[in-house]
Amino acid sequence: MITDRILEFDRAFVLRLIQHLAVPLFVLDANRRVIVWNRACERLTGLQADAVLGTSEHWRAFYDAPGPCPADLLILGQAGGAHAVSDAGGFGLRTENWCIMPRVGECLYLMFEAGPIHDEDGRLVAVVQTMRDMTEQKRTHIALESLAIKDGLTGLANRRYFDEILEAEWLRAPREQQPISLLLADIDHFKQYNDTYGHQSGDECLREVAKVFSEQVFRPSDLAARYGGEEFAVIMPATNLDGARQVAQRIRDGVDALNVARRANGRDERPVTISIGIASLIPLPGTGSEDIVSATDHALYAAKAGGRNRIVVAETARRKEC
Ligand code: GH3
Ligand code: MG
Ligand code: MG
Repeated sequence: MITDRILEFDRAFVLRLIQHLAVPLFVLDANRRVIVWNRACERLTGLQADAVLGTSEHWRAFYDAPGPCPADLLILGQAGGAHAVSDAGGFGLRTENWCIMPRVGECLYLMFEAGPIHDEDGRLVAVVQTMRDMTEQKRTHIALESLAIKDGLTGLANRRYFDEILEAEWLRAPREQQPISLLLADIDHFKQYNDTYGHQSGDECLREVAKVFSEQVFRPSDLAARYGGEEFAVIMPATNLDGARQVAQRIRDGVDALNVARRANGRDERPVTISIGIASLIPLPGTGSEDIVSATDHALYAAKAGGRNRIVVAETARRKEC
């Protein structure tokens, strides 16, 4: 704690203390001019104190175009979407954001905390803003989130995420009175492919087919997933059978094009084909998402039984066709 005795003894000491604090910080006066820019702030931002002291150019440290920092928002009285945090001196702001950091040439994820400083009469005289570099934590968090929802081999959504999204869409659809369509696809004779060309070639083939799915399923609300070993699925909210048929056809065409490309690259492998089942249902009271999975699975089974390399529409879907 800094006592009045120290302040009386040496104000310069307090300034030196702030300058050498390990926490990056700057202070704006009530006119939003920079009055303190400490060493740690110079190191973090790559912007030297000389370049900003006495100016309102501090945004240059964080953005490539003028924009307010939390300290500015506090002075301007525009908290925006930031979370207000209380502290001993009143209310402050805490936000976290990706920042461009033009001077250091990299994007950093920073946590900002801005706290007001009032005089004896309660007037705002300055705002101190501290920064914490959270880039590593944020990257780890993003990677973990992505691991939790993505299939490691293909990069498509994994089965767990597929189940979650299907359930959520199923519960949402009745409110919107919209059909949901589901597509299940299975690579034909894939065991034979593995046996002939080896498991690694099998993996490569799975990645190629997955790429077809990610390229051909482009509506933001649709979800392509790896459903199982050599099985893929597409959830299509607010999509009727005609829409689902179009997606299925594009996927089949994409797999055909894959074979053309493979031949052009001199790969003398048996053509890859897939069987597809599709179903479209409006979720009714008393039904569950397992009903559309089961209907689509039957259609896929029929596609296999019918000779493979084809698209079959679920019987129930025809009855409840939308
Ligand atoms: P069908 O036309 O009836 O679907 O025949 P299939 O051979 O594709 O079906 P089956 O279920 O007999 O075999 C599936 C094969 O998929 C067997 C399994 O080794 C292979 N497989 C599943 N997951 C992977 C994987 O991650 N990598 C590789 N390389 N192969 C996989
Ligand atoms: Mg299978
Ligand atoms: Mg198969």
